[in-house]
Amino acid sequence: MNFKEINVIDPIVKATALMGYTHPTEIQQKAIPVILEGRDVIGCAQTGTGKTAAFAIPTLQLLHNHPKKQPVVRVLVITPTRELAMQVHENYTTYSEFLTIRSQVIVGGVPHTKQLKQLQQKPAVIIGTVGRLLDLIQSGHIQLSYIETVVLDEADTMLDMGFIKDIQKILAMLPKQRQTLFFSATLPHAIKKFALTILKNPIEIAV
Ligand code: AMP
Repeated sequence: MNFKEINVIDPIVKATALMGYTHPTEIQQKAIPVILEGRDVIGCAQTGTGKTAAFAIPTLQLLHNHPKKQPVVRVLVITPTRELAMQVHENYTTYSEFLTIRSQVIVGGVPHTKQLKQLQQKPAVIIGTVGRLLDLIQSGHIQLSYIETVVLDEADTMLDMGFIKDIQKILAMLPKQRQTLFFSATLPHAIKKFALTILKNPIEIAV
């Protein structure tokens, strides 16, 4: 099975080909079609399985296929660490090479002035760590009213790090009608229970 056969659009297929990827990995084969349908997903996948592209590709494709005139933030990806946020951002940059969709990284340890400049570029996708995101949301610099999809990446790590309250604060400010994608390397009972409180009729995918 190749990317075209799971309905990935040509400009993204072209970007995957440039990376030398000819076939979607298992998590990509399973997750891309259901994310394109707009479904909520609980994905249990470790780093190294291609799980980042499994959400980056379809979320970019949905943005591309449903363009908006206003420059608003439409996808929010929340990660536990700066390093992961930057890796996820690299993935978004790679797969959007032949699209006109911009993404920006919002993380702690970077001067506020620099991040405010990045936000002025009106990215459709924001990838960030919990604390700094909440900071810029509460100060009114990041608007959440037009978010269509939120991704919790490495959710188990975020919960282990004690971010549950802050994540709940962010989720509570998002539009109720939205797509939620929950990715975790492990799915113990407590994590799954939390996931089910924030997801609507999710498809569960494990690899
Ligand atoms: P991740 O699980 O997202 O950390 O990805 C692990 C590695 O797999 C990264 O270096 C990706 O660039 C690479 N990768 C992602 N998708 C594919 C694919 N379809 N074929 C081969 N490698 C891939």
